[in-house]
Amino acid sequence: MLALALAGCGGAGKSTSAAPVADKPTFAVGTTMANVASTGKLRVGIKFDQPGFGKQALSGSYEGFDVEIAKIVAAGLGLKPEQIEFSEAPSARREEVIEAKKVDMVVATYTINDKRKARVSFAGPYYVAGQQLMVAKDDNKLTSPDALKTNPDAKVCSVTGSTPGETIKKYLANPNQLVLFDVYSKCADALRTGQVQAVTTDNVILLGFVADSNGKFKLAGDQFTQEPYGIGIAKGDVPFCQFIDDQLTKAAQSGDYEKAWKTTAGKVEGAKTPALPPLSPCS
Ligand code: GLU
Repeated sequence: MLALALAGCGGAGKSTSAAPVADKPTFAVGTTMANVASTGKLRVGIKFDQPGFGKQALSGSYEGFDVEIAKIVAAGLGLKPEQIEFSEAPSARREEVIEAKKVDMVVATYTINDKRKARVSFAGPYYVAGQQLMVAKDDNKLTSPDALKTNPDAKVCSVTGSTPGETIKKYLANPNQLVLFDVYSKCADALRTGQVQAVTTDNVILLGFVADSNGKFKLAGDQFTQEPYGIGIAKGDVPFCQFIDDQLTKAAQSGDYEKAWKTTAGKVEGAKTPALPPLSPCS
């Protein structure tokens, strides 16, 4: 799986960008912007299996809101979508690929929090999600995370190195109720085959799996956390953070942000068009 994940690199194909590509922009020498623009290649870690946010299509092209956010940043650097090199960044490996400089940034449903900020910096947030549960359509027992305590035989699936995988622990009757995989598509498969009775992660990720489930899955209960999505970059790269924030602000003003949403996650039923959240100071 790891070997496959590492091998899974490639360009964005013939996809189009929401934002107009800047014509030969100039940047201060030595900045990440100058370095990336001069190599003509932006390396971005995304999810490969999350419909609506980051998904590698069978054709090899990449789709999703995170992919579109990457294109908006690339456009400001004067780079076309096909000049982005996407690679898979599963939840537990995001800090690692940034620290090892395998990518210039990670746009992968990546919640900003203090633990992660000890290792990487974040631009954004560009979206705020919330943790929720997904269950089988005919399930009327697991109606909220609290129902996991009263149904101790029920198993819930999440992903290693994710915030929902940690948060759910306090709702369990026993630790054996939690099943952890490296990616969410494996949790969706386990729900389909009845090995687990619930999947937990961010509402918008779950909505993508519900939409792809042929009516087999549904969301249960309300969202019970706030997950502000940031763009992970090398720790302390304040100029790059500010550049990305400027691109987000411009995209929100021009309508490119809304277009990016509407053509991806926004197609999923129930996912409302967001406004760009207030950006956090770069550090
Ligand atoms: N946003 C949460 C996180 O960063 C869950 C989604 C994910 O694992 O990518 O951990």
